[in-house]
Amino acid sequence: MSKPIVAIVGRPNVGKSTLFNRIAQKRVSIVEDIPGVTRDRIYMDAEWLNHEFTMIDTGGIEIESTDKILTSMRHQAKLAIKEADVVVFVVDAKTGLTSADEEVAVILKNARKPILLAVNKVDSPKDELETFEFYNLGLGEPYAISAANALGLGDLLDQIVAALPKETSVADETDTIKVAFIGRPNVGKSSLVNALLGEERVIVSDIPGTTRDAIDTHYSKDGSDFILIDTAGMRRKARIDQPVERYSVIRSLRAVDRADVVLMLIDAVDGVTEQDKKIAGYAHEAGRASIIVVNKWDLVEKDSKTTLRYTETIRSELGFMQYAPVLFLSALTRQRVNRVSELVKFVADQHAMRVATSVLNQVIEDAVAINPPPSERGRKLKIFYTTQPGVKPPTFVFFVNDAEIMHFSYLRYLENKLREAFGFEGTPLKLVVRGRK
Ligand code: GDP
Ligand code: GDP
Repeated sequence: MSKPIVAIVGRPNVGKSTLFNRIAQKRVSIVEDIPGVTRDRIYMDAEWLNHEFTMIDTGGIEIESTDKILTSMRHQAKLAIKEADVVVFVVDAKTGLTSADEEVAVILKNARKPILLAVNKVDSPKDELETFEFYNLGLGEPYAISAANALGLGDLLDQIVAALPKETSVADETDTIKVAFIGRPNVGKSSLVNALLGEERVIVSDIPGTTRDAIDTHYSKDGSDFILIDTAGMRRKARIDQPVERYSVIRSLRAVDRADVVLMLIDAVDGVTEQDKKIAGYAHEAGRASIIVVNKWDLVEKDSKTTLRYTETIRSELGFMQYAPVLFLSALTRQRVNRVSELVKFVADQHAMRVATSVLNQVIEDAVAINPPPSERGRKLKIFYTTQPGVKPPTFVFFVNDAEIMHFSYLRYLENKLREAFGFEGTPLKLVVRGRK
């Protein structure tokens, strides 16, 4: 089920990313943060009073060919209006109201989306007077916050949660594997969907201005049912309005939310981009299974080592996704396209795999016997029992004497042992440590 999206908009330096990271810290998470994923993140899953939502820092989304602040802000605002359920507009009490703020407010006001106005850098209650001038924006009551000092954030979060759309739960079609095709514009998403379907179901064209919508297509092969989610929709408008190109980022995040298996398409010529890393990181953290598809392999001059070298490069760029199989193919010549559905099926099965508790505990016991946990602060970690309460992704809970002394590297070791024993190719694992009360 897709979570509601909350977008943060505002001029550079008003404190958007500080606010973003503040709210991130409130997140209670036992799963470790992965270096490279958390850096420069543009999205974050947040939870407040049992309401889950995805927060997006529009300032972190690369908007090409816009160096002017105002242009870039306008784009951010439009993007937020189009894709988010709630928009948080951040302004700066220290610099006061600017004309750029006013212009963005006009755009936001015309949108039929809840807008919350946060006046940041109100570092002490006596500064609250400085929020009054922001009433002039006509966006309702300004909320005084200090992202740096974590002041006023609770009230702001209350308002965000109150403005979220009411939850709508969609019944899952259990046996159908949902596959999202993710990647930059022109990487070949639609071509691959078409190649799989074996007919021109989605219009692929080089002609600028061709408009397409994102399309879900049912597809059956060898007794398995799939829904193919093509995120390419509407990008062709980009020629007229550049930032639409970037809407594809949020569209991608939404598609990832809905998917079981994510096909991360990489252009064989261009390699892994920053945007690819961010979206792959999102898929990883969201617990989706992933396959890295290197498309346009026909364009690469190859010798006997090319595939190996290319795989190594991808492995180092997407370090947190070592589990994802890499498939080199060409949607154009259809080379290895016939491998896609069986690999998706395989990975989906791994993603949904449940292991027997007795076997699981045996594997962990053996792992501990070979390599006992190092002592931390003079205390020795004991793992009493391990269980797998969930799938998609496979989730394991380790009951231990003291959760505090479970070291990150030891958890990584246990994950490797689980993978050695059971495979789990293509899927992240979620490891939870529970101490005795
Ligand atoms: P962004 O460009 O909007 O993402 O802004 P940043 O989060 O990078 O913050 C810009 C600057 O404002 C940094 O130097 C922050 O330390 C500072 N800043 C952020 N929040 C506050 C705050 O609540 N009070 C004060 N005094 N400074 C802040
Ligand atoms: P999307 O924006 O990701 O859906 O990309 P498209 O499927 O529309 O493809 C963009 C362009 O790349 C089109 O001109 C395709 O013909 C071309 N293309 C797609 N796959 C391949 C491939 O495997 N090899 C080559 N050489 N071109 C490809």
